Amino acid sequence: MQDISRAKSAELYEKSKTYFPGGVNSPVRAFKSVYGTPLFIQKGDGPYIWDADGNQFIDFCASWGPLILGHNNAEIREKVTEVMQNGMSFGAPTALENELAELIIKNNRFVEKIRFTSSGTEAVMSAIRLARGYTGKNKIIKFEGCYHGHSDSLLVKAGSGLVTFGETSSAGVPKAFADETIVIALNDKNAVTEAFAQFKGDVAAVIIEGIPANNGLLIQDQEYVEFLSETCKANAALLIFDEVITGFRVGFEGAAAHYGIKPDIVTYGKIIGGGLPVGMYGASNEIMAHVSPDGGVYQAGTLSGNPVAMAAGIAALTILSSEGFYEQLNAKAQAFVNELKSHISEKGYELKIFTVGSIFWFAFTSKDIKTAEDIDPASMDKFKIMHRELLNRGIYFGPSGYEVGFVSAAHTQVELDKAKTAIFEALEVVFG
Ligand SMILES: *Cc1c(COP(=O)(O)O)cnc(C)c1O
Repeated sequence: MQDISRAKSAELYEKSKTYFPGGVNSPVRAFKSVYGTPLFIQKGDGPYIWDADGNQFIDFCASWGPLILGHNNAEIREKVTEVMQNGMSFGAPTALENELAELIIKNNRFVEKIRFTSSGTEAVMSAIRLARGYTGKNKIIKFEGCYHGHSDSLLVKAGSGLVTFGETSSAGVPKAFADETIVIALNDKNAVTEAFAQFKGDVAAVIIEGIPANNGLLIQDQEYVEFLSETCKANAALLIFDEVITGFRVGFEGAAAHYGIKPDIVTYGKIIGGGLPVGMYGASNEIMAHVSPDGGVYQAGTLSGNPVAMAAGIAALTILSSEGFYEQLNAKAQAFVNELKSHISEKGYELKIFTVGSIFWFAFTSKDIKTAEDIDPASMDKFKIMHRELLNRGIYFGPSGYEVGFVSAAHTQVELDKAKTAIFEALEVVFG
């Protein structure tokens, strides 16, 4: 099959490379792990995006997660347009912040008080500072294969783009910072016990993605997550659930409700802003009392709680909090994934799909995968071929085999059936 025309995208990419490192403003967008040059996106509507050359794609990347309602959702667009008529930023409180906070807190058993930021990275960075400020301890335990944004202390063997490029940390992070972060493997109780023993009395927090979804989909056992929670309690350390992907995705209350485990601090991002830049961290009243100006943990933001971004969040979360939203979305996604799975087993392909809610991930393996180590980098060659074949058939996935796909509320049976056919054809090429 002939490759789609990318003349306009290629031209834009040549130009963008003179403006930005790698031609992009976030590394994974550069298509380094797949064939071809990045597609420049012109517009999106519902389940579809169009690139600069006019190619149409059914989108499963969803701007890396935020677009659970699909592209250009009418309710979000109208609310944003309405609010924008009154100005774009004040740096002073607005009723819109109360409105979004109320929507979240009323429908969430895990946070009593919250603080809005402008990105997931900021939310997690602030949650870490809060955990340290609250406990008076220094060390953070994180897991290999979990991505928590690009703040210094968390760029230690982080996943997502970094693993794609075969790096284990970033240049420019002082060793002294990295020394405060202990990185261990997922799904390994002994490693947790060992880390707490080695740094006795100095572990402020354990941070884990609610369900790790930035370096493959590494679904952890219920029992293991309970163990983390108990171990934190026993050591007076806080358990932080980074729910920047899973929050408002696997359900309105995210992975915390999925596992029925109460984290001490939760972070959200992506979906919470309805496609605009919003992050959030939250906890009990007691813990949040330590945040400035009530407490001594400083954290601020010129554009935090931005009214336009709040408006998008309000419109999105209003829909997401409606009765049956997640049951319907998750059932649709699971039916789609099940059809793919039965085709794969019929054909006997060495391929597994890991899935939860409306998240799914193709792993070219026959093994069960629970840790970053379990993923064979060589298997990414197969993803590369699948990605090219899918683009040529009008299906857009994130340009890395370590990234998950998302089904949105905007995907109808029509798009899912088309995607299914395209995936079957692509797999025939991969395994042919
Ligand atoms: C995306 C993501 C982040 C970073 O959020 P940004 O908005 O990109 O800064 C942090 N943690 C997790 C789990 C994420 O998926």
